Order: sequence, then C-alpha cells, then structure tokens
Amino acid sequence: MNRPETAIAYIGLGSNLADPVAQLKSARTAIRALKGIHELAFSSLYYSLPMGPQDQPDYFNAVIAVETTLLPMVLLRALQTIENAQGRIRKTERWGARTLDLDILLYNDQTIDLPDLTVPHSGITERAFVLYPLFEIAPHLQVPGHGALADLLSQCPLAGLKRID
Ligand code: ATP
Ligand code: CA
Ligand code: CA
Ligand code: CA
Repeated sequence: MNRPETAIAYIGLGSNLADPVAQLKSARTAIRALKGIHELAFSSLYYSLPMGPQDQPDYFNAVIAVETTLLPMVLLRALQTIENAQGRIRKTERWGARTLDLDILLYNDQTIDLPDLTVPHSGITERAFVLYPLFEIAPHLQVPGHGALADLLSQCPLAGLKRID
C-alpha cells in the first residue's frame, strides 16, 4: 500500500472569549484527535492586544505545527468544524471577539489562492502574535513570497505581545 503524501502545516490559534486558555487547550486536543494529523510542535501561549474593534477582551494565541495527509481545503474544513464545535459565532463585524480562531498559516512551501483559502495566511507578515510563536517552534522557516521568518519578525513591532511561561 502506498503511504499517502504528508505535508507540514502551521496553524495559528486565537481566542478571547469563554476561558481562552481552556479554549486553546481543547483546540489542541481536537486537532491532535483528527485523523491524518500528527502534532510536531506546540508553541508557548502568548497574550496579545485585539486587532480591529478595541471594545473586546485581549487575546491568547499559540501556533501548532502538524504533519498531515489532509489536503489544504480538507484541513481548513476540519479546523472550521473545530471552531464551530467550540462555539464560534460568525458575526458581520471583522475581527470581533471569538471563542476560537484557527488559521492555516503555512502549508509546506505552497502558495494557495482559492476563494476560501489564502496561504501563506494574508496577515502573517505583520502580526506579532503569529510571527513570534511561529519563530519559537520553527526559527529557520522561509515564508513563500516573503523571505525568512527571522527577517519578518525583526521588522515586526511586538505591539503588546507577551509570552506566557
Ligand atoms: P483574518 O483572516 O484576517 O485573521 P479572521 O480569522 O477573523 O481574520 P475569519 O472570519 O475567521 O477571519 O475567516 C474568514 C474566512 O477566511 C474564512 O471563511 C476562510 O474561508 C478564509 N480564509 C482564507 N485563508 C484562510 C487561511 N489561511 N486560514 C483560515 N481561513 C482562511
Ligand atoms: Ca491525529
Ligand atoms: Ca485570524
Ligand atoms: Ca480565521
């Protein structure tokens, strides 16, 4: 039997509602429980200030690295199912409060431009709460189209980001 092709994907996790630390912990458990996904690394938790609307709680963030046989769109749908299971309510307001946000940051060295999926994630170059946890678990990454992760990070202000030990 042929072994399915595997990819390495990086997923960003965020939460600012309903016990965010517990939300990230159960999201990690749910991701690990998916068939066709194997966890490679999980960053520290980080504390960040909200983007967009400021009348919402601060965020907790992390990044997970996985090895996966799931194709990108299948992975996206699986992550959205986990968001929904953890009570994510989609509102019209952009970047509003949420129990759980799971973004595909990178999928191998692929560039993907589909109606529902952009990879590398469109915010990756300017978000400290993505770059710092990513750097913690994969310091030598190259971000397709944007160069070395280390260079992106050195140009990105912390913007209130704090690592939680
Ligand atoms: P942002 O994408 O700027 O971080 P957000 O996470 O708040 O904002 P959502 O409301 O969670 O945005 O998602 C909006 C849509 O983004 C989703 O329906 C999904 O189809 C699309 N999307 C595009 N690229 C990605 C990606 N790399 N990871 C996750 N969702 C993506
Ligand atoms: Ca698994
Ligand atoms: Ca997001
Ligand atoms: Ca999202």
